[in-house]
Amino acid sequence: MKQRITILGSTGSIGTSTLDVLARHPDRYEVFALSAATQVDLMLAQCAQFRPRYAVMASGPHACQLAEKLQQNNLDTQVLQAPDALEAIASHEQVDAVMAAIVGAAGLAPCLAAARAGKRLLLANKEALVVGGEVFMAAVQSGGATLLPIDSEHSAIFQSLPEDPATWGQRVEHVLLTASGGPFRTRDPASLRDVTVAEACAHPNFSMGRKISIDSATMMNKALEVIEAHWLFNLAPEHIKVVIHPQQIIHSMVQFRDASIIAQLGTPDMRVPIACGLAWPERVESGAAPLDFTQLAALTFEEADARRFPGLHLSWQVLAAAPGTTAVLNAANEVAVEAFLQRRIRFDQIHALNVATLEAVQPSKPDTLQALLALDAQTRAVAQELVRCFN
Ligand code: NDP
Repeated sequence: MKQRITILGSTGSIGTSTLDVLARHPDRYEVFALSAATQVDLMLAQCAQFRPRYAVMASGPHACQLAEKLQQNNLDTQVLQAPDALEAIASHEQVDAVMAAIVGAAGLAPCLAAARAGKRLLLANKEALVVGGEVFMAAVQSGGATLLPIDSEHSAIFQSLPEDPATWGQRVEHVLLTASGGPFRTRDPASLRDVTVAEACAHPNFSMGRKISIDSATMMNKALEVIEAHWLFNLAPEHIKVVIHPQQIIHSMVQFRDASIIAQLGTPDMRVPIACGLAWPERVESGAAPLDFTQLAALTFEEADARRFPGLHLSWQVLAAAPGTTAVLNAANEVAVEAFLQRRIRFDQIHALNVATLEAVQPSKPDTLQALLALDAQTRAVAQELVRCFN
């Protein structure tokens, strides 16, 4: 029987790559529902190609536009409107797997709905786990969901770890997350105040959404990934390390007690971890080119420079702080990135804003979705106010 898939964020970089992989395997997968925020025409094209039962748009006007265009094209996909509809398509009884590829904390509620409904949950939306933390993992546990990482680093660790999680504690020394270092790996830290939006979005190896592109340039993406690894693999923060590897061939590694290291390698193409998550424990063709070792130049590694990437170290600090502090960091960073994209703050002020927001908001252990969303909203309000002060 075919697996029925919901894609949350189907018009984004991960969403379109997921559809590319699904299109290669019409015998195995069927698209049940898609969701997007603003890109009506792309959603229309996706509905025409994949014929989902439901398409969810984030706002009323976008939902109306899509419904009209679907009707003009004689397509019978039913249009629904977020936020409730996102939870509905993520937890629908006829859905087998959910690709969580919305960007930011907006993806938290549908992720929790999929987890509670016991779905196979393919998690690209790292911010949802950074915000949700313990609440998210408890929902996975109680719902009996299967959580499969899509972030290439976490997919690599997942593939390198022993199969039985009960043995990780005795066997694993630490995990090593690799990082490209982004576009500013060699740039003079003193010149980071002059970085433009176009420069920050120009990732050396990947074409990605704007939020993750900026996060890669500040290395806040890696900071979020450290937090993600902590929750996904139940690892103490001191057992998570980061090393810069500009070629992005080794996607991450696990070092064991005997000093043996197991790594996962491949071309930098997100269709590889996506195909891995979709088919696990089987393997299907992803569309990515295999590595040609004879064409590889050197694989190099270096330490992340704290002057250039001050945000990276916030991950260990917030993991050691009061529960909920990771959610504060995430919300601050979402506001800071958006403010930078709108040219309201400078690139180097992203970190300054994150630190100032962390100092201003003290969370009290949020243990429900409502409490997490309230903390997220409170933090955004504080961060927005700080953006005004920074100007
Ligand atoms: P994009 O910005 O390319 O896509 C985001 C998707 O979410 C789009 O479909 C967008 O709709 C939709 N969306 C945006 N805001 C909202 C909202 N408020 N409510 C509902 N839907 C919304 O992001 P990426 O695909 O790059 O990243 C998605 C997630 O995957 C992120 O969490 C990122 O960190 C993670 N990730 C991405 C990788 C990559 O290579 N891109 C690698 C590893 C992880 P629309 O476009 O129609 O406006």
